[in-house]
Amino acid sequence: MSVPPAVGLCAACVHQQVVRTTRGSVFSLCRRSREDPAYPRYPRLPVLRCPGFEPRERD
Ligand code: SF4
Repeated sequence: MSVPPAVGLCAACVHQQVVRTTRGSVFSLCRRSREDPAYPRYPRLPVLRCPGFEPRERD
């Protein structure tokens, strides 16, 4: 699935979930928002700094 352009840090973060709507729009959702209200569900992009960032393992 293609990732939205200019996402910033979230694109490399283990907590990111890419959500695609039926109309073909793609959003970057932060899964930390489910447990911590300090994190917006859909962060304003690009995210340049985030205390919750954890790098995704590379395949
Ligand atoms: S924790 Fe931060 S960097 Fe990671 S997906 Fe959420 S907002 Fe983006």
